[in-house]
Amino acid sequence: MDIASEKAGTTTETQHTSISFHCELCGLNESCDYRGRRPPFASKIELPEECYVMRDPFAPPPQAVPDKPSSEHYLLLGADCNLCRRAVCKASECSFFYGATFCRRCCMERVQEFPLEVRSKIKKQFA
Ligand SMILES: [Zn+2]
Ligand SMILES: [Zn+2]
Repeated sequence: MDIASEKAGTTTETQHTSISFHCELCGLNESCDYRGRRPPFASKIELPEECYVMRDPFAPPPQAVPDKPSSEHYLLLGADCNLCRRAVCKASECSFFYGATFCRRCCMERVQEFPLEVRSKIKKQFA
């Protein structure tokens, strides 16, 4: 939430800023294009939580395929754990999604705090 840094960008095409994403569990390092809930390059979507979002490097630019929904042109790299706020990637070994993203460590440590039907999913996923 740093408004000043957004204004610092120039109005040329070099406005692209990349955000570094580092998964605290598996060590994945990527640079992503956006962190938040409404990626500007996929304007029709609203994510359920703040995520690290990357433009799909393999997708053609949206204007090339106007029929395709823009939601197909982005990749979710990860999100901050809802409990410990550590950044974790979307890999099934690293995070579990239940209304929000939870890292493996918090899931395992606090599995008893999840509803019963979710506990078995967590245990299965991180077994
Ligand atoms: Zn990871
Ligand atoms: Zn956590």
